[in-house]
Amino acid sequence: MIVFAPKETDPRETRAALTPETAKKLVGLGLEVQVESGLGGRCDHPDPQYSEAGATVISDRAAALAGADFVFRVRKPAPAEIAALKGGCVHVSFLDPFNEPELLEAMAGAGVTAVSLEMIPRTTLAQKMDALSSQANLAGYASVVLAADRMNKILPMMMTPAGTISPAKVFVVGIGVAGLQAIATAKRLGARVTAFDVRPEALEQAESLGAKALRIDLGGDTGGTAQGYAKELTPEQLEKQRAAQAKVCADSDVVITTAKVFGRKSPVLIKADVVAGMKPGSLIIDLAAESGGNVEGTVLDEEIVTDKGVKIVGLSNMEGRVPTHASQVFAANLGNFLEHFWDAEGKSFGLDLEDEILKGCVLTHGGAIVHEKFKGE
Ligand code: NAD
Repeated sequence: MIVFAPKETDPRETRAALTPETAKKLVGLGLEVQVESGLGGRCDHPDPQYSEAGATVISDRAAALAGADFVFRVRKPAPAEIAALKGGCVHVSFLDPFNEPELLEAMAGAGVTAVSLEMIPRTTLAQKMDALSSQANLAGYASVVLAADRMNKILPMMMTPAGTISPAKVFVVGIGVAGLQAIATAKRLGARVTAFDVRPEALEQAESLGAKALRIDLGGDTGGTAQGYAKELTPEQLEKQRAAQAKVCADSDVVITTAKVFGRKSPVLIKADVVAGMKPGSLIIDLAAESGGNVEGTVLDEEIVTDKGVKIVGLSNMEGRVPTHASQVFAANLGNFLEHFWDAEGKSFGLDLEDEILKGCVLTHGGAIVHEKFKGE
């Protein structure tokens, strides 16, 4: 059985879906591993590292795609490359399935078994395969490092003979995987952190990291879904949240927004009037920029400075700013996925669609869209 990782084609993408470390592990399981030449060129893994790990470095991408039993990549495939895949191959990547009905049709039409990393269940057993979490964690870290770089202030308190410098105030909105890492990183750098989430348990997690929790009575049920995701707020609840946050924003040097609602556009939580009320030189990092943005005024992949001197940064692929570690854990997630279902003796992949994990993340199989959520869309 052959596993192939093609080079990512999006010019913004710095990560690789296979690292030499994971390639070696798969070779050890009895798989033949192929990588496109240059795969790790942007994450510190030149071709010879893959060869040393036992993989074959290939330059004929089209032939490798047509021959692979498993294709590993970070981003969704280009439509032109789907028809060229081998029927029955297992294709593992992010697929953005809620926004890509035609892509799913094409993958079903090509007889591909499409695994969507976004849909890996949030269970203890599947945690080792959860690429959304492994990448969000690094995005949270990278957001604080980027803020530190873009600010005209420092984050920690400093007592100097020339006077005391106060610690920067950081406000984190959305305390999921990315938000928790942003809090931890900002605290390590000495900032004073306040945080808010609609899920009450997330506020407690923020407190355990030393942040101050902003508590807002939104009324109604604001608990999460069975998978741990937030439920969408009503327009009235959103209005209450925005009003309660305004004062904290006005008092903050950095606001980091990470709020997402699974499968939907991200809620707009900071409107233009609140941005206008922030201090000159303060900074917003909108980690939800790719899914619509939490901030009015965010422009994807741009850094805006308002006429009041507030910066709004909405860069995509924040985890791609630390591509070596992002690739390390991403590739490990995919390697763990394959290993979990791999029968080393029979050298075969156990594709049981009744399995809880596969039922959650296999979207197309045997020529059809098989996932309940996407059938008929
Ligand atoms: P996410 O990326 O979907 O959302 C980020 C955060 O935004 C979430 O904490 C969410 O509650 C919050 N949010 C949504 N609407 C908001 C609003 N209006 N205002 C403020 N915040 C808002 O979430 P995520 O980071 O992927 O993780 C969600 C949860 O799932 C977390 O509790 C995480 O610990 C849990 N999780 C569990 C597992 C597992 O059990 N295997 C794995 C990963 C994550």
